[in-house]
Amino acid sequence: MSPETTQLPENQHDWVQDFAEGSKEQRNLLGGKGANVAEMTRILGADRVPAGFTITTSACVAYMNGEQEFPDGMQQDVDAALARLEAQAGRRLGDPENPLLVSVRSGARASMPGMMDTVLNLGLGDEAVLGLAKRSGNERFAWDSYRRFVQMYANVVRGVPSERIEAEISALKKRRGITLDTELEPTDLQELVATFKAIYREQTGEEFPQDPHEQLSGAIRAVFDSWLGDRARHYRRINRIPDEWGTAVNVQQMVFGNMGQQSGSGVVFTRDEVTGEPDPSGDFLIDAQGEDVVSGVRNTQDISELADIMPAAHAELMEILRTLEKHYGDMQDTEFTIEEGRLYMLQTRDAKRPAQAAVRFAVDAVEEGLLTKEQAIAKLDAASLEALLHPTFDRNADYTVLATGVNASPGAAKGAVVFTAEDAVHAAERGEHVILVRPFTEADDVAGFHAAQGILTSEGGKASHAALVARGMGKPCVCGVSALQVDLAGHVARIGDAVIHAGDLIAINGTTGEITIDDVPLVEPSQDPHMAGVLQRFETVLGWCDDVRVLGVRTNADTPGDAAKARELGAHGIGLCRTEHMFMDIERQPKMRRMIMAEDEVERRAALDELLPLQQQDFEGIYEAMAGLPVTIRLLDPPLHEFLPKKEEIGDELHQAYADKRYRTVGVLADVLERIELLSESNPMLGTRGVRLGILYPEIFEMQARAIFAAAAAVRERTGSMPELEVMIPLVDYERELELMRELMIRVAGEYDLVHGQDYLVGTMIELPRACFLADHIAHQADFFSFGTNDLTQTGLGFSRDDIEGKILARYIDRKILDRSPFETIDAPGVGQMLRMGAWLGRTTKPDLKLGVCGEHGGDPDSIAFFHESGIDYVSCSPYRVPIARVAAAQAQLASPR
Ligand code: ADP
Ligand code: MG
Ligand code: MG
Repeated sequence: MSPETTQLPENQHDWVQDFAEGSKEQRNLLGGKGANVAEMTRILGADRVPAGFTITTSACVAYMNGEQEFPDGMQQDVDAALARLEAQAGRRLGDPENPLLVSVRSGARASMPGMMDTVLNLGLGDEAVLGLAKRSGNERFAWDSYRRFVQMYANVVRGVPSERIEAEISALKKRRGITLDTELEPTDLQELVATFKAIYREQTGEEFPQDPHEQLSGAIRAVFDSWLGDRARHYRRINRIPDEWGTAVNVQQMVFGNMGQQSGSGVVFTRDEVTGEPDPSGDFLIDAQGEDVVSGVRNTQDISELADIMPAAHAELMEILRTLEKHYGDMQDTEFTIEEGRLYMLQTRDAKRPAQAAVRFAVDAVEEGLLTKEQAIAKLDAASLEALLHPTFDRNADYTVLATGVNASPGAAKGAVVFTAEDAVHAAERGEHVILVRPFTEADDVAGFHAAQGILTSEGGKASHAALVARGMGKPCVCGVSALQVDLAGHVARIGDAVIHAGDLIAINGTTGEITIDDVPLVEPSQDPHMAGVLQRFETVLGWCDDVRVLGVRTNADTPGDAAKARELGAHGIGLCRTEHMFMDIERQPKMRRMIMAEDEVERRAALDELLPLQQQDFEGIYEAMAGLPVTIRLLDPPLHEFLPKKEEIGDELHQAYADKRYRTVGVLADVLERIELLSESNPMLGTRGVRLGILYPEIFEMQARAIFAAAAAVRERTGSMPELEVMIPLVDYERELELMRELMIRVAGEYDLVHGQDYLVGTMIELPRACFLADHIAHQADFFSFGTNDLTQTGLGFSRDDIEGKILARYIDRKILDRSPFETIDAPGVGQMLRMGAWLGRTTKPDLKLGVCGEHGGDPDSIAFFHESGIDYVSCSPYRVPIARVAAAQAQLASPR
């Protein structure tokens, strides 16, 4: 965010500033809307933008801190600014002959669409409305404006339910036999004003205020208060917008889109907001004020039709859109009003856009000379780009759309229905694909988002928690499916007659909002002809990123398939290959269990001998998929009991066997149970795992070393080139632990004629605080370090991931202790500081020590920026995050070159 440019002497306050004096750099003080209205006034000229002034965010902050009273001097500043506005407009607020009308608009630093309030047509009263009618010669317009004002003021300032008011309008239209607001006669509108005022009296116990100054302070107060409202608070929490920022309030002379057939209002983007195609896109309404366009009271017309209705205004608008885009160097999202043929601009902001529009804009903007490549990269929202890699429904497939909701986060997904985050997590652990189905979601559900393929809710729209979180993660999401009823207690969902149980298949398409229970085939974007252009542009952009970045990007991959996929997505090697996943495979489990169950070393070696060829095969596949690029293989890390069945399962089987009098089975099971108990630890995360396994059971690491080196020798034999092999020892605390394991590796490698330092490297994970503090010692035994930031976060903070994310996080965010999970973005001042110490100490021993980061932080843009600044050589992330990491690494280099 740009720094403040206003510097005021200490005794002067910055409560109020005229539009004519501001600029876009003052976003923090004036809010986004105010700063951009000021900027437009500067570049388009004062006659294009209705005049006005901004009550600053500083005033709002002072109001919040001071028991919700206007700060000293603010009222005077508002009065003075109003006097200037009145002089300029040649009209006075509340003047019965020639009244000035204003809008009172909220606008915070960060855009919060639909979260806060605005009041239009302020300044009208029983007398002023007559003056307005006379001056304009348009009685209908005057009364239409008045009824709008009473309606909005009652709702926004005094909380009168809008349904209550809308119901009156509908009832009147019904009585008149008309369908459109524009068909209401002046007498109808007068009647509505009287009715609304009666409702106001009934709901507030007061008369509708006729004094325009009272109206104005009421509206300003209401906008300040809306910052503190539940809706806005909730939105800020999800979007990590600090509560302390406050909102600005813009007071602006009204221009009128509701003055007849030569007037209107609209919303227009400089380019298509969904596809990014270069033609402006938007909607407008003739004879309407701006809020009608968004609220959907009437069906809007496409902006292209304005060219026929008001060619001159349309041409001016197109010209202005070009000017704005050029000036801001970004796609703009604007609001305009035409008053009797005269065009006014009311708002502009950088357009939010889905990934496909973002890459289209980036490429087009560079081609058009609007932006440099570097500028285009800097404008990308790295995290949202993952959406481009997700599959879609096969367009040629036959399926029945069961219901449609809001297309909240693009991409399609299918899987078994789960109703809780916990079930999603468990299913994911079993390798199952699930769709998380909820009425709505909350912070507690986030762990389930990670685990699920997609999210489906019956409530909420594009700004709901589910939508925002899903988009952040690049997960497909359909929200607000009103036909869907989720019965959490009953573990079922219903859509019409269809009953959906937990475990049933469901497919969602977050690009279109469709849902179906048919097993519709999904197609990878690369196989979808409609995506060809988008992916090609994405490749172009990624190519620019690769030219810019210095941070390397590798992948976490455990299978040849993952390795190949990641390579396709641009990974430059494997930074973490977890060998344990090879043992989780269902066919290998019995062999692994036999190894664990072994009573002694001899028995264990026999079992290991059976695992060896299987593991060797895996490694050969991975080396070949990554030929020419480094492959880091981590030796067995998790505690052994993770490979054994659960105690309860064995218990049940044992009972059954006993009941069936199968005594031999009973004997076997009893042994298993005993072994499980023996291996069980009270805190396995801190127990016998990682290098400790290698110290206690060297034969396990020896077998793994054999598989790794035999595979390397075999591949070298077959292809003529040696894989770029790096063996990694996990969870090291002490230099001596690593020394022992390194000796073991060197001994085994020697049996295959492989030379340490030339044919392979041996390094370690740095994932315990002690290892960070003594990294200079550990570096003596290590050819490279890879920071395992998941475990370093767990051990550094003393947080266990599942517990904190499930139980503690939401409250911690609420109480402003955290703003997100430290497992999502690295805790830079704490865990990050340890990492920097480890990096620095390691390099005091070996100046060229290669440093990597593996763990989920490696795919998180904010963490990537931190790693870049910490002098890390490469990050390693899951295959689908690789493109995001490439973008984020380039952005980090542009923000802070190294
Ligand atoms: P939001 O942030 O919800 O879009 P705005 O402050 O932009 O709220 O105002 C809501 C609507 O009122 C918009 O359509 C806007 O164009 C319209 N509006 C705001 N100020 C004026 C004005 N001075 N004259 C005419 N229309 C206005
Ligand atoms: Mg607006
Ligand atoms: Mg670890």
